[in-house]
Amino acid sequence: MPEDIQNHSQIRHPLLETALIALVFGVSALMGYYSVETPVLLHLFYVPVVLTGALQGRQRARLMALLCILSSLIIFVPNLNAEAVDGIPLMTLAVFLLWAATLVLIGVIVGALSDRWRIAMDHLTEAHKKDVLTDSLTGVANRRAYEFELARRIADWNRNAKDLSLVLLDIDYFKKFNDRYGHQAGDAVLRAVADELANTVREADLIARYGGEEFAVVLSETNIELAKEVAERIRALIESSRFPFNGLILRLTVSVGIAQIREGEDATAFVQRADAALYSSKEAGRNRVHFHDGSTCQQFGNGMATEIKDQTKSGDSRGGSDPYTDEVTGLPSQKVFLEELRRRAAERNRYGTKLSLAIVEFNEDLDDTVHDAHARKSLLATISKLASSVLRDTDLIARFDENSLGILLPATDLTNALVPLTRLRANASQYSDAKYASLSYAVSIGAVEVLGDEHPGSALQRVEVALKSSSAEGGNAVSYHDGQECQKVAEDAPTAELQSQRD
Ligand code: GH3
Ligand code: MG
Ligand code: MG
Repeated sequence: MPEDIQNHSQIRHPLLETALIALVFGVSALMGYYSVETPVLLHLFYVPVVLTGALQGRQRARLMALLCILSSLIIFVPNLNAEAVDGIPLMTLAVFLLWAATLVLIGVIVGALSDRWRIAMDHLTEAHKKDVLTDSLTGVANRRAYEFELARRIADWNRNAKDLSLVLLDIDYFKKFNDRYGHQAGDAVLRAVADELANTVREADLIARYGGEEFAVVLSETNIELAKEVAERIRALIESSRFPFNGLILRLTVSVGIAQIREGEDATAFVQRADAALYSSKEAGRNRVHFHDGSTCQQFGNGMATEIKDQTKSGDSRGGSDPYTDEVTGLPSQKVFLEELRRRAAERNRYGTKLSLAIVEFNEDLDDTVHDAHARKSLLATISKLASSVLRDTDLIARFDENSLGILLPATDLTNALVPLTRLRANASQYSDAKYASLSYAVSIGAVEVLGDEHPGSALQRVEVALKSSSAEGGNAVSYHDGQECQKVAEDAPTAELQSQRD
């Protein structure tokens, strides 16, 4: 018998059991009073047996049936001795045996059905409880469980004053991550981050996903000094982790805020301080840990082993109301570029058409001063004009990042994509503008062709590698990544030599 069925058969309700046993004796007494010749009374025994089966399961129903048979025998046997010498005994015996067998059978059937129903209900309740408290994507506690558990641990802290700290984590630039690699990749790394957290903290600590890309770790019996170590360990681990997804190797960083609960503080104030620390980590450039010491937020450790570019300043997320148009240049935003890349890559997979893409970057060191902002705008406008003069109407030019443009070349293989790109580099390097005489219009270009059933995110990673290779050693170069390695297009390659068959 399966273990859970056995467990369920042993459910006991003493009061109910006593009442049912009393019922058995009541029926026996009634039988004794009216004698066995009214066997119709035997049927009354079905009542306690069926009730026991329904309410207490198969095993108890079997026992109850046996009790009924025994007590009816006590009445039956003396009556048999006293009255029946050669009359009804055989017939009576047969009826009695048939009744006894039916009684046991009915008890067992009703009990077994009741056991199964109870097990199913228990599983359902268990699953429901889990659903209500668990985040279905990552398997860690959800916001409801987090709030409940945090309140419980704060109440514990009020009772026994053992240290309690809270770590809040928010994945950096996750919106951009989703835009670039797709929501499925985003979901996969959310799961991976939850797993990393589970592997880093103790079992007694509570890990929860309390928002889209926001996690909390409640550290019991942990003071702020220990919490800082834990938080920094988590930050460094996530920074150094590589998350494989569909052939891509993805990476990301988190910003962290921590606080230790203070005298007289409630959950709201406690969470607010940890949240303020998290906000400080974001403000300071992300990928770092800040803690709230009761009055101010301070950074812990160096954080940020890798420099994080403030990607929120690029095309699609400049506070403007239209996410599809870059405010500075009026070009399509990075969002459009990435969506179009995904769409074209899917089309490529379906119809086998060619698709190339490039990033064109200018290497000027421009900051946020008004003069530089104008200079950047002029540079971007000029480069996009130069690009459109060498590209086809169907090619897409978009703002890719702070200092770069993205170019999508549908129906174009790498060789043919390099023709206009090489021309663009040559034209740009010769360009000068009287108004910004000191500006260099030279550009670095990285290019790739999307390969096989390559994920668009992987093509983007390759194009960025190619761009890095061309901007190294002074830039003003075109490099491409052919799936294996980067190659630089010779600077003096006459563009006529690269035969274009595009039109
Ligand atoms: P910051 O560095 O300032 O935190 O920038 P951010 O882009 O991470 O923050 P923002 O709050 O602007 O965006 C959060 C993004 O997280 C938006 C949403 O697309 C993404 N996100 C939220 N929940 C999920 C989810 O369940 N799955 C995936 N794939 N993405 C999610
Ligand atoms: Mg967030
Ligand atoms: Mg975020």
